[in-house]
Amino acid sequence: MEAYWRSIILFGRNVASYKFALAKSLLELGSREQELIRLEDLAQPFARNVCRHLERHPKQGTSPSSKFLDACRDFTQGKITESDLIGQTAKLGFVNVIDAFHVVNQGEIPKRFFVDERKQSAGIRLTDDFFKMFEKGHTGDLGEEVEARWRLVEAAWNLGVSRNLVSIHHDDKVNELFAGPNNRRISVTSSRGALNGYQRGRCFYCFDRISILTGDARLSDVDHFFPHILKAEIPNSHLDGIWNLVLACKDRNRGHDGKFAKVPSTRLLARLHTRNEFLIESHHPLRETLMRQTGTRENERKSFLQTQYNQAREKLIHTWQPILRSEPVF
Ligand SMILES: [Zn+2]
Repeated sequence: MEAYWRSIILFGRNVASYKFALAKSLLELGSREQELIRLEDLAQPFARNVCRHLERHPKQGTSPSSKFLDACRDFTQGKITESDLIGQTAKLGFVNVIDAFHVVNQGEIPKRFFVDERKQSAGIRLTDDFFKMFEKGHTGDLGEEVEARWRLVEAAWNLGVSRNLVSIHHDDKVNELFAGPNNRRISVTSSRGALNGYQRGRCFYCFDRISILTGDARLSDVDHFFPHILKAEIPNSHLDGIWNLVLACKDRNRGHDGKFAKVPSTRLLARLHTRNEFLIESHHPLRETLMRQTGTRENERKSFLQTQYNQAREKLIHTWQPILRSEPVF
């Protein structure tokens, strides 16, 4: 079920952020273990999430006007009360998103997280499959991923296909992605949240379980595939760019037999290429960034990676191949 959930959150073009607001609301309400959720109850977390994002990013979609977003703006400016906002949200906020939520690439996915009961009981009914996802206890990570994807989409809307996108980069100290030049950089989102969807909660190298929640014992490292000590040696390669970032368990990254500053094997290089191609094909919000940093066409990107590999081998000599901890999942 997590795979279907991720396909909803991670795939496809986004014309508005409602899908993310609904996803976050479902994860919040799911812990109540209550099947029927009336639209008024759904409206509360839904509107709260949208209002919070509107404060950071006034643009929440590609359409020029929305009565629902106007109501959210009115609320944050104190022009209407919270109960007005809930009423407006129940009436206007769910018009398309409830129908569209399970649609991925023009088709409905075969499982449902809720059924539409707006006609019968003025709400939606969460399914057993939805609750199964909760039993596994990974919903904290899923919530982080929704938030990260929402922020990436906002960044893409704000920046457009502009030159700023080329400089989206990761900062080791705070584990966040930033856009823009160093002196005026803008925080985009947590790097872990942005990377975990593709890896499905698994280490890039050994497939062991990882977490993206601060405080969790399995909290992952954000790892530079080509070690960042190469920055001075191979400049202009954007080693802090998303193309070179993966999530790794701490053991594989810096434990016994860990990677440290070794060069990953060619098998791992192929895995990285597959990952980057997947992000590009799935219309990842950082698609343009990836293409600007590594090449417009697939063969260019392949040879870009090979060039980095050759340069890295020349400088660092040793290659590294991890012991697998679990079955490969990507
Ligand atoms: Zn690992």
